Amino acid sequence: MYEIDATHDPKRKSWVESANAAGTDFPIQNLPFGRFRLSGSRDAFRIGVAVGDQVLDLRATGLIDTDDMNALMNAVPAERVQLRRKISEGLTAQSAKQATWQKALVPQSACEYTVPCRIGDYTDFYTGIHHATTVGKLFRPDNPLMPNYKWVPIGYHGRASSLVVSGTTVKRPNGQTLAPDAKAPELGPSKRLDYELELGYYIGQGNAQGSPISIDNAEAHLFGVGLFNDWSARDLQAWEYQPLGPFLAKNFSSTVAPWIVTMEALAPFRSPFTRAKDDPQPLPYLDGQRNREQGQLDILLEVLIQTARMREAGEAPIRLTHGSALDAAYWTAAQLVTHHTVNGCNLQAGDLLGSGTLSGSTEGSAGSLLELTSGGKIPIHLPNGETRTFLQDGDTLILRGWCERDGVVRIGLGEAAGTILG
Ligand code: CA
Repeated sequence: MYEIDATHDPKRKSWVESANAAGTDFPIQNLPFGRFRLSGSRDAFRIGVAVGDQVLDLRATGLIDTDDMNALMNAVPAERVQLRRKISEGLTAQSAKQATWQKALVPQSACEYTVPCRIGDYTDFYTGIHHATTVGKLFRPDNPLMPNYKWVPIGYHGRASSLVVSGTTVKRPNGQTLAPDAKAPELGPSKRLDYELELGYYIGQGNAQGSPISIDNAEAHLFGVGLFNDWSARDLQAWEYQPLGPFLAKNFSSTVAPWIVTMEALAPFRSPFTRAKDDPQPLPYLDGQRNREQGQLDILLEVLIQTARMREAGEAPIRLTHGSALDAAYWTAAQLVTHHTVNGCNLQAGDLLGSGTLSGSTEGSAGSLLELTSGGKIPIHLPNGETRTFLQDGDTLILRGWCERDGVVRIGLGEAAGTILG
């Protein structure tokens, strides 16, 4: 469905010079979608495509006549593939469009963004098996994974109203917490504020209520992927999560990257979905040939931190986590779509499915401080002498993601950054 075609050709260069720079997140082979306007303006947000260090104003090219990203996402994949081809051809070096499209470019440094689409509903899954195991061990040392984990993609319904775009500050939440030696909870600011390294899967075409999406058809309903930080207040979570699961520990804010990298762009970065022999094989409705052959996304991920002191001293952010979605995700995006709709639930264009924390199996690849500090017991030592168990006011967290393979041009997901305010 999302085939490798001329738009992925590593030899294709753009007349936008910065798109040809080695290491750029946004070469002509990527072409992710977002919503932008000039910084500080009161203009309506418009649909843009990132290319090099520029944004291509898509309506100004004449290729679309709408500013409604959700309408664009709701198109059938064949139409999306066509649009991608036209954008790619127009941006290709020596294109006749250069003279007119030049005027449709805006430097990214002059832009501000909003969440990339209208997100009607947001569901967070729990596909990171190493995360689920490590966190489970903190609470249940003998039985870290619940018996359902390897059978059913675990998830809960989150809240869309508090999703924010990268660069938005995050206010430390208040809530009820129960101190270890206390008899009664108290209300106050969270003392165990954490991040969660996730991918967000954006729904394209929706389904009618009562009409499940089969596994073989699931990717036709996926629009693309973006970085997602599911900020979490661990002390609020520990007190409130039983019996109904996450609530105020999660819904105060989550940060998304401005850009959605499309399934089309990700075509060269797919990997097989496998299950260990000793693990239960997926039930038939979650199992399909295409999913087996290329259900997984080969995306590399990292998290960086810059404390207020580092920022004042002009020190660059340092890496906390470096891992791979491939190493972390127990279920594929297609399986999440199929499972979400198996009961007849209707998804709509722009809905967001969080992957769950994508902690890898290797040292240094844990996607949350809860894991990196063994539940807050072992602090992380930063190069400037500071330590962290959980996030302090003034800390900036930056999520990054990218794909790279031999013979293919590297593409990136941009970043999802946020600074904690007290
Ligand atoms: Ca989460």
